[in-house]
Amino acid sequence: MGSILLKNATLLATFDDQNTEIPQGGVYIEDHIIRQVGAGDTLPETADQVFDMQDHLVLPGLVNTHHHLYQTLTRVVAQDANLFTWLKTLYPIWGRLTDEGVYISTLTGLAELMLSGCTTSSDHLYIYPNDCTLDSQIRAAGDIGMRFHASRGSMSLGESKGGLPPDSVVENEADILKDSQRLIETYHDASDHAMLRLVLAPCSPFSVTADLMRESAVLARQYERVRLHTHLAETLDEEQFCLEKFGMRPVDYVESLGWTGHDVWHAHCVHMNDDEIGCFAHSGTGVAHCPTSNMRLASGIAPIPKMTRAGVNVGLGVDGSASNDGSNMLAEARQAMLIQRIAPHHYSDTVPLGGREGFAGDPAAMSAREALRLATRGGAATLGRDDIGSLQVGKSADVIAVDLNRIQYAGAGHDPVAAAVFCQPFNVDLSIIHGRVVVERGQLLTMDMTKPLRRHREISKAMINGG
Ligand SMILES: [Zn+2]
Repeated sequence: MGSILLKNATLLATFDDQNTEIPQGGVYIEDHIIRQVGAGDTLPETADQVFDMQDHLVLPGLVNTHHHLYQTLTRVVAQDANLFTWLKTLYPIWGRLTDEGVYISTLTGLAELMLSGCTTSSDHLYIYPNDCTLDSQIRAAGDIGMRFHASRGSMSLGESKGGLPPDSVVENEADILKDSQRLIETYHDASDHAMLRLVLAPCSPFSVTADLMRESAVLARQYERVRLHTHLAETLDEEQFCLEKFGMRPVDYVESLGWTGHDVWHAHCVHMNDDEIGCFAHSGTGVAHCPTSNMRLASGIAPIPKMTRAGVNVGLGVDGSASNDGSNMLAEARQAMLIQRIAPHHYSDTVPLGGREGFAGDPAAMSAREALRLATRGGAATLGRDDIGSLQVGKSADVIAVDLNRIQYAGAGHDPVAAAVFCQPFNVDLSIIHGRVVVERGQLLTMDMTKPLRRHREISKAMINGG
């Protein structure tokens, strides 16, 4: 794989342990590892590949902690619906998903993520109608070159048993567990700098049974670094469902099933009280914050500053492409920063309202640097990884760069880090994953997407039209 030198770079957000800022420096990579980060005169003068990063902000690669890539096939459906209505509209459409659709949608969603600076993505594939397999998604991630955490998701609680999804899209629990074990034993790589890890991910409290949650946790914990993931406390409808069905709030419910701990992260966590945040902090349970999806479905605003102050590991997720409807991590960081400034959590405990009617919020609730930290180091911690998320010697060589001379950044050059979050995000100009250049001059190098996109359009049309 050889060596790569990024020189003359602006390194103002390394997110290393000391938050080192290097106004003009570089990054030296050998094989798939960062070997040096520092001022220009401390670095090797040359390498197999040299990139002059003059006027470029160089950052650690972005980490996406929640997604459903198959949903790239069904964007802008149920445009004005809340979560449960949106799901009920989409379940029959998703019931037409095929294994080819899994492969093509994974390529498409990962291409969009890579172009916008994501270097590690998780995905949560929880619906397996027709001939669908997780194997095809894993193959697509390998073909396009993304560092990937694949979830064997599942749904087992159909409508006839009190769940939300129709019976036609749920699976038998014994089959789910058997397939989960097969996938872990076939693909999971527990080693440092792994390009592929496996996750077990029953879909949500309203689409799987307590037994499947418990048994998935027992199975995952038989293996090193196999993590657990699900949706939690996303909406008030879900809270009501848990209170009625289990007599508990969502966090109490999952805690009773063994679903808190250093090896667990939950998506959304919008409706959590202070005690529940404390539980996540003490147990090391992580959170995937998905602000755009939460806005799109009017689910609410997650109390992220409270979580990070309490010590909860929080990462960002673009969430499924049917509820975002995009996969741009810089856009998600921007959304995370902006939404906190009008979040109701700030009414009482950080900013006095001062009696001004109609005024609410806190313009300092989340800074650009805090948002970018969620998208990098925070995401890495949420996925249980200490080998990615920062520009630091010994970390995996996942590095991105944006050209500060782009129109979008004009006038913001005095603070390049803030520019990357405040200004309208675009794609990145350079991306390196595992020491391999995957995006150069804004172009994806690892795959020609012309044919996959053509096929994507055909499959999407057939699914949505019912053919
Ligand atoms: Zn989701």
